[in-house]
Amino acid sequence: MRADDSLGQVLSGGSRSFSFELFPPKTADGERQLWQTVREIEALRPTFVSVTYGAGGSTQDRTVRLTGEIAADTTLTPVGHLTCVGASRDELREVVGQYAAAGVRTMLALRGDPPRGRDTAWVPHPDGLRHANELVELIRSLGSFSVGVAAFPEGHPESVDRDEDARVLALKQQAGAEFAVTQLFFRVEDYERMVDLAGRHGVTMPIVPGIMPVTNVAQIERFAALSGAQFPADLAARFHAVADDPEAVVRLGVDVAAEMSQRLLELGAPGLHFYTLNRSRSTIEVYQALGLGAATG
Ligand SMILES: Cc1cc2nc3c(=O)[nH]c(=O)nc-3n(C[C@H](O)[C@H](O)[C@H](O)COP(=O)(O)OP(=O)(O)OC[C@H]3O[C@@H](n4cnc5c(N)ncnc54)[C@H](O)[C@@H]3O)c2cc1C
Repeated sequence: MRADDSLGQVLSGGSRSFSFELFPPKTADGERQLWQTVREIEALRPTFVSVTYGAGGSTQDRTVRLTGEIAADTTLTPVGHLTCVGASRDELREVVGQYAAAGVRTMLALRGDPPRGRDTAWVPHPDGLRHANELVELIRSLGSFSVGVAAFPEGHPESVDRDEDARVLALKQQAGAEFAVTQLFFRVEDYERMVDLAGRHGVTMPIVPGIMPVTNVAQIERFAALSGAQFPADLAARFHAVADDPEAVVRLGVDVAAEMSQRLLELGAPGLHFYTLNRSRSTIEVYQALGLGAATG
């Protein structure tokens, strides 16, 4: 990536993007694990790494600090997530300023989930923003930032249908978003259908699919709660068949994610975004299975 290119320009430039999502840890042990992962990922020279913003804005300080440290102390391009939850417009402007001061030029603009859980209604801050497209607009109005947004191959849980999701993605693009990253999903067909529908609504920005290799069987049950993504029954059966062998579960997780990644790239996906949960082993193995990188341990 040339220093004067925005991430949006890089992603639209035709070369495939490979990226990793990290979260700010709460403990010293978590911090050590994270930095080991950061260094392993750095050796793969990904296009960017993104850092999540905790539910309800709970990790604001840690997210901004970690993203700034990645900008200052590594060769990686960091993307800082930002949500509208519990924040006034002034507070959101302040966080954007903190990102800018920390050397972060790219943000993922999200609405966020209701702080008391998905089943409760979304209520914006009285002086805040209702939707991600408004946050894109706000960030773009504050400087020359590159802004990405979320996309949902299985549909956003609050949307009436997939058509609404496609219209919303187009609104985000009109507001100035330059790329989208998807929620995790497990059926390539869902991504294909979403991209097709988005295209019919005028979306031209790259939509990077989000991939999470399964690393343990308990995770499968948590996926729906975490993301609203359905875990296909036939795939769940394959994992349950090896459930008593943790190593076999990890290997199957890598195989399934690598196969899905390969199909997505063949379909013309503009890259892959790996959800790492701050652990690099499986994602690095997927990366290698695709012939993309060398072993780093
Ligand atoms: C790649 C990725 C990264 C994420 N990172 C984080 C994170 O770091 N922290 C975190 O808390 N959450 C994160 N999330 C979760 C995200 O905040 C939730 O999925 C949230 O419910 C939706 O966010 P959004 O930005 O898509 O919201 P929106 O685009 O605002 O959409 C939310 C709902 O409102 C509808 N809608 C949107 N715009 C309009 C409009 N203008 N008018 C009417 N209806 C509209 C949509 O159809 C949808 O049903 C992430 C999700 C993804 C896919």
